[in-house]
Amino acid sequence: MPVDPLTDEQREIRELVRALARERIAPRAHEIDKGAEFPWDVVELFRENDLFGIMYDEEYGGVGQSSLMTLVTIEELSKVCATSGLIIAVQELGSLGIKLAGTEAQKERFLPRLASGDWLAAYALTEPGSGSDSAAMRTTATRDGDSYLLNGGKRFITNAGVAHVYVVFAKTDPDDGHGGISAFVVEADAPGFSVGRIEPKMGIKGSTTGEVFFDDCRLPADNLLGDEGDGFRIAMRILDRSRPGIGAQGLGIAQGATDYALEYAKSRETMGKPIGQHQIVSAMLADMETKCEAARGLLYKCGQLIDEGAEGAELTKISAMAKLYCTDVAMEVTTDAVQVLGGYGYIQEYPVERMMRDAKITQIYEGTNQIQRLVVAREMLKENRAFLLAGVA
Ligand SMILES: Cc1cc2nc3c(=O)[nH]c(=O)nc-3n(C[C@H](O)[C@H](O)[C@H](O)COP(=O)(O)OP(=O)(O)OC[C@H]3O[C@@H](n4cnc5c(N)ncnc54)[C@H](O)[C@@H]3O)c2cc1C
Repeated sequence: MPVDPLTDEQREIRELVRALARERIAPRAHEIDKGAEFPWDVVELFRENDLFGIMYDEEYGGVGQSSLMTLVTIEELSKVCATSGLIIAVQELGSLGIKLAGTEAQKERFLPRLASGDWLAAYALTEPGSGSDSAAMRTTATRDGDSYLLNGGKRFITNAGVAHVYVVFAKTDPDDGHGGISAFVVEADAPGFSVGRIEPKMGIKGSTTGEVFFDDCRLPADNLLGDEGDGFRIAMRILDRSRPGIGAQGLGIAQGATDYALEYAKSRETMGKPIGQHQIVSAMLADMETKCEAARGLLYKCGQLIDEGAEGAELTKISAMAKLYCTDVAMEVTTDAVQVLGGYGYIQEYPVERMMRDAKITQIYEGTNQIQRLVVAREMLKENRAFLLAGVA
């Protein structure tokens, strides 16, 4: 019996998402990849069906669903189109700073427009010289009366050019490392804000990934999230809750590839029988399914813990494990799916070719999987399990 901790209402929402994915998004996935154009029609579909609302409380115009339900939504969409799943994941990534650290006034100002999907959000941490090492960032924010002036630039920002609000991290104290970072909400029409190059890339081609620049970009001081110097802590609290979303994207891609390979293995015949009946192929299918189910167990447990209010070390560790495992599974399983299809797996006409390219980014963004391993090991090394060894010779 597959892992399924959803309530009846949540199962109904999942059925709606599945139907939209199957009927409206799957037929577009190849075009979105080939055209490498941001799919505004998919955004419109999400708006019409209140999919953005899943991530927001009712008091801010959402439908008040859970983190677990957000993960399920991303998973279901990513089974057919990883770019579409990412639209939901990044809306959450870009909103979490406001949800976690925003004042009531900031929440009322931004969240309803994000909950309806009228506005899209982005999260801008990475710079050319600071990816894994965020303390090395160079963008600065200087207080000037009732404003801040931002100067510098960010790179590899998902939703660059399509987002209406960016949560941006900048140094208010350039001489301090992590402690000198602050977080700001930057609206796309802020004076001095501009979008640079949009990067051509290997996968998730419909998603924009680009540079954003701040040239004496003036923001009201009200756009600071939390206090000066809180930025790094906010960034990490966000990632603890957003990384599982990338895990969900990876799991969706992996399950989509498994389902496709399974159907193919039933109909493609060699040496007088369907390839799924050759033991080596059937063993691959069994391993692919088992990895997906194990990944789902870890991911949903993480979603449940977030919904129960988990914080700190417990959340940091399971969220890193869920992101790490689901996305490693995505790469392994999609590579195997291409193998099951043989030469056809390598051809663009078959979706597993796209899925394998899309899977790769899930091991890289929101902290590479090397960084996730560092995080998990760091938390393990802090734990005291000596009592378990009592009596062991
Ligand atoms: C398509 C795409 C979308 C993205 N979207 C966003 C976004 O929306 N917002 C945003 O802020 N960023 C975004 N990023 C940036 C992404 O999060 C970074 O690229 C990623 O965190 C890695 O940083 P880096 O590229 O600078 O690699 P580096 O930090 O230079 O790492 C290079 C290699 O060294 C390894 N490494 C680095 N440090 C260590 C260490 N201490 N121990 C072991 N190994 C280490 C890394 O794992 C990696 O393999 C995106 C990137 C891409 C490609």
